[in-house]
Amino acid sequence: MEGRGIHSELMSPTVRDARFDRSAMLQRLAEETFDIVVIGGGITGVGVALDAASRGLRTALVERHDFASGTSSKSSKLVHGGLRYLQQREIRLVYQALHERQRLRKNAPHLVRIMPFMIPILTRDGVVSRKIARVLGTSMWMYDLTGGWRIGKFHRRLKKDAAFQHLPTMPAERLSSAYLYYDATVDDARLCLTIARTAAEYGAAVANRCPVVDIARDLDGTATGVVVDADGTHVTVRATVVVNAAGVWADDVRAMAEDAHPDSIRPAKGVHITVPWEKVRNDIAVVVPVPKDKRSLFVVPWGPRGDGTFRNTYIGTTDTDYTGPLDDPQCTKEDIDYVLRALNASITTGVTADDITGVWAGLRPLVKTGRSARTADLSRRHRVVTDAAGVITVTGGKLTTYREMSEDTVDAALDRLTQSGTSGTAKCRTKNLPLLGAGGFREPPPDSPDAHLAARYGTRLDEIYALISADPSLGEPLVAGLAYLRAEAIYAVRNEMARTLDDVLSRRTRARLFDRHASVEAAEAVAALIGPELGWTAAQQLQQAEAYRRSCAVEAAAGTARATVPGLA
Ligand SMILES: Cc1cc2nc3c(=O)[nH]c(=O)nc-3n(C[C@H](O)[C@H](O)[C@H](O)COP(=O)(O)OP(=O)(O)OC[C@H]3O[C@@H](n4cnc5c(N)ncnc54)[C@H](O)[C@@H]3O)c2cc1C
Repeated sequence: MEGRGIHSELMSPTVRDARFDRSAMLQRLAEETFDIVVIGGGITGVGVALDAASRGLRTALVERHDFASGTSSKSSKLVHGGLRYLQQREIRLVYQALHERQRLRKNAPHLVRIMPFMIPILTRDGVVSRKIARVLGTSMWMYDLTGGWRIGKFHRRLKKDAAFQHLPTMPAERLSSAYLYYDATVDDARLCLTIARTAAEYGAAVANRCPVVDIARDLDGTATGVVVDADGTHVTVRATVVVNAAGVWADDVRAMAEDAHPDSIRPAKGVHITVPWEKVRNDIAVVVPVPKDKRSLFVVPWGPRGDGTFRNTYIGTTDTDYTGPLDDPQCTKEDIDYVLRALNASITTGVTADDITGVWAGLRPLVKTGRSARTADLSRRHRVVTDAAGVITVTGGKLTTYREMSEDTVDAALDRLTQSGTSGTAKCRTKNLPLLGAGGFREPPPDSPDAHLAARYGTRLDEIYALISADPSLGEPLVAGLAYLRAEAIYAVRNEMARTLDDVLSRRTRARLFDRHASVEAAEAVAALIGPELGWTAAQQLQQAEAYRRSCAVEAAAGTARATVPGLA
C-alpha cells in the first residue's frame, strides 16, 4: 500500500480513472491471488472490501449486476439510529447506529446531510392523546441520550405555528404541536459507489457484472476462491478467504458451498413513492402515522433548489413479508394505496396515484428467527457466520451500520488468514477513513452553483468541471427538470464503471426514482451520449433505450397511475 494513499495524488480530471477501470480490474481478478474475495457490491460488500484493503489485505470484490443494484439503492436513504427500534428495546443497536451516523458524517461530509425530523402531534376530536405525547417525549429523550446528542443538537418541542411552517399542508385545525429531532440522509447508491471507489484507491480489485457461479474448493472442501462469469468466460478468482455479502441472495451463495439451501433469510419488502414537492411543501423530514397500523412513514424532501424549496418529496416505507422473485421486487398498487392513505391522513392536498413521479421497492435481508413475528418487529442486527467450507457470510444490519458490520466480518476473516499464515495489518482503519471526495471538503452555501455537484462528488467536483470546460455542451441538463448534467453521465462511464443506460439513470444519477417519465423521455439521448464511450453501435444504443423503457413500463404497470410510458403503449 505504500505510496497508494488516498490523498497521495490528485488525478488529472480528464484522464480515465485507471484504478476503477473494469477491464484492468478483470485482468487483475484473473491474474492475482487475493487474501479476501468479497461476493456482492451492496453497502455491506463494498464496506468489507474497503475495511480489508485499508488494513493492507489483498482484496477483490465481485458484483453480479451493478454496485448497489440490490437493496442498497432502494433504502429510505436515512443515516439514523431508528427511533422505533428504541420502542423495540434495541438500545444497543440504536447506540451503535448513532455512533456510526457520526463517523459517516465525518468520513463522508459531502454525502451525508443533517436533516431535521418533525413528529407532528395531531388532535383527535380536538383532544391530544396524553399517552401518545408522554411516550413521544420519553422516546425523544432516550434517542438523545442513546447518541442523538452526537449531532450537536437536542430534540425540541415546537409550538403549533412553528410546526405548521415546516409542513404547511397539514390540517391546521388538528395540529397541536410537534417534536423536532435530528438525523441524516444520504444518496445510498452514491455512498455505495464512493466506498467501492475508495476501496479501489486502497488497492482492491473491484468489478461489476461479474456474477459468482461457483465457489472454488480444494480437495478438503475448503473454499479457495470463487468462479465468476466475466463477460461469458469463467474465471477463477483465487483467495484465502471468501466473504459472502450477497444480501437477500446470501443463501443462494451459501448453497453453492454448503450443497444445501440454508433458508436463513426472511426478505421484507419496503416501497417508496415520489411526488412533486409542491404537493407536500415540507422543508424538513416529517414522520406521519399510518392509520390503523402501528407503523409510521417518513416524508422526506429531496433535491434542494437552493432557495429553501425542493424538487420532490419521497414517502416510505412499508415492511411486509415477501415471497416473490428476489431479483425484481415491484411497488404494487396495494403498496401505493397504503402509502397514500397514510400521507393523506396527515396533509390536506389530496395526493393521488396520478401525482406519483417515481417509485422504488427493496428487500431487507433480515435474519430469520424462530418466532414468526411481523417483519417490522424482526431485529436489524447483523450476523457473521463461517460455514464448513470456510466461507464467511454476513447478513442483516442496516445501511447506517455497514462499517461496523464490515469490521466484524474482516475480523473474522483475519482469524482465518492468521490460521493460514497470512499476516495483515490487524487494526481496523475505517473509523477515521475519509471516503473519496471527503478530504478537505467544505460545504458550499445551498444557493451556490457548486451545491449540486459538491453534494455528489465532494472535492472531486473539479473533474466534472474539467469535462465541461473541454466540451461546454456537457454542462447542459441530462434529464429535463432535474439537476444532473450531461457531464455526469460521461463521468459515470469513464470513472464510475457505469455499463448500461439503467446504471446511469437509476444509480449514478437517481433520475428514474424522482422523475421516471422524464428519464424515459431522455433515454435515447442519454444512450447516444454514453454509447460512443462504451463502444455501442447505433443499434445497441436503441436497444439500451428500449430495454430501459420496457423496464420502466413494467414498473409503471405494477402500480402507479402513470402506466403509460413515452414510446410504449
Ligand atoms: C425499503 C428499505 C428501506 C431501508 N431504509 C434504510 C435506511 O433508511 N437506513 C438504513 O440504515 N438502512 C435501511 N435499510 C436497510 C439497508 O438498505 C440494507 O440493510 C442494506 O442496503 C443491505 O445491503 P447489502 O449489501 O447487505 O445487500 P444488497 O445491497 O442487496 O447487496 C447484495 C449484492 O450482492 C449481489 N449478488 C447477489 N448474488 C451474487 C452473486 N452470485 N455474485 C455476485 N454478486 C451477487 C447483488 O447483486 C447485490 O448487489 C432499508 C432497507 C429497505 C429494504
